[in-house]
Amino acid sequence: MDLKHVERVLTELGEPSYRTRQVWEWAARGAGSYGEMTNIPRSLRESLDSGAPFSTLSAEDEQRARDGTVKTLFRTHDGHPVEAVLMRYRDGRRSVCVSSQSGCPLTCTFCATGRMAFGRNLTAWEILDQVLHFRRSAAVNHAVFMGMGEPFMNVDAVLDAARRLPDLGITHRRTTISTVGWMPGLSRFVEEVAEPIRLALSLHAADHELRTELMPVNERYPLLDVLAACRQHWERTKRRVFVEYVMLAGVNDSPAQARLLADALGRDAFKVNLIPYNPTGMFDGSSRGAIEAFKTELDRARIPATVRLTRGRDIAAACGQLASDPRPRVRA
Ligand code: SAH
Repeated sequence: MDLKHVERVLTELGEPSYRTRQVWEWAARGAGSYGEMTNIPRSLRESLDSGAPFSTLSAEDEQRARDGTVKTLFRTHDGHPVEAVLMRYRDGRRSVCVSSQSGCPLTCTFCATGRMAFGRNLTAWEILDQVLHFRRSAAVNHAVFMGMGEPFMNVDAVLDAARRLPDLGITHRRTTISTVGWMPGLSRFVEEVAEPIRLALSLHAADHELRTELMPVNERYPLLDVLAACRQHWERTKRRVFVEYVMLAGVNDSPAQARLLADALGRDAFKVNLIPYNPTGMFDGSSRGAIEAFKTELDRARIPATVRLTRGRDIAAACGQLASDPRPRVRA
């Protein structure tokens, strides 16, 4: 729902400003149409229906994984594909993974989104509408900006959206923004955001050459600067920054590389999430043994580390698999 659009329509109709707030309250609590907003006069609901689309996105396709994960493909009004994923856990956590861009202009070699065409930045409303879509069927309580795109290339919309998530039932503590280390947006985030929003950094290799190979953006914004900025967020909010590290067999998964990572991070400000690689046609995932050995090195260095659960693999909804039509291409 584009609330600015709703507000314009209401203003043109000479309605008081509290009407906009009423509409938002209904939408944020999971209403599925203007028709449900019973404290708003019927004629006004009808005017809204014809004047302001209820959602900025249309859901085009939905897939359900065996573990209950749901992946939805949306289209923006101008035809760009956007995917979002709902993950449900036994402990009651319901986490929405949202996209901040349609496609991604960065070209990380292991990521499927990086291989599809870049469309454009999404608006804050287009980001929130992904969450609202799932919110309509049941309460959601976590959000991660880990879908398509680089959130800090679209920092204004991402922050606007993140700041409205509490209205939808998702607190800042349960919101995570993940970045490759795009410095202009990261610096803004660090300077401007005092809210306890979790920051996550896609790191993947502590060695400069290797990281550049995996993530060309590393040439532009070297890891040392990025880590310094992350550290500032930790100092300010006392929330550890999550480091994402995708485990690629024979590429970045040796014990020596774990020690390099430990040295780069230090013990205080970071926590490492080791991510089993989800096949997207490139690379092989590390074996369980290699992941355990890597973790053992981090344990020795007293760096907190966990191995992330993979969900939704069978519907290509897992980390790095979001790339709408065509499905992730397999290397010839
Ligand atoms: N651009 C941001 C947001 C995307 S988050 C970022 O890179 O942080 C998506 C996460 O999934 C990133 O940590 C990314 O490195 C990881 N990822 C990408 N492809 C993957 C794959 N095939 N298997 C597992 N993780 C992957």
